[in-house]
Amino acid sequence: MRRGPCPKCGSAEVVRNARVIDRGDANLDAGDLSAAVYANPRAWVFKEKVITPLSACVCVGCGYTELYAADPAALADAAAAAARVE
Ligand SMILES: [Zn+2]
Repeated sequence: MRRGPCPKCGSAEVVRNARVIDRGDANLDAGDLSAAVYANPRAWVFKEKVITPLSACVCVGCGYTELYAADPAALADAAAAAARVE
């Protein structure tokens, strides 16, 4: 749905790159919702967290929403590093 119509209802009206806000405990804007992978998950302190923000594509016709990671390759690199540590 990043390109083309909604896969659920077929509508061509799609809002792309909508910000996905993490409201936090105090209902404030706590930044963008993100995906994270630890490159060194067994470390006590320095787990080497790799974070990438998520953005949304929202169908205007039915509300169906897809999330996309800004930098999926960075997460893949961290996951590969974590697999080497295991
Ligand atoms: Zn739709």
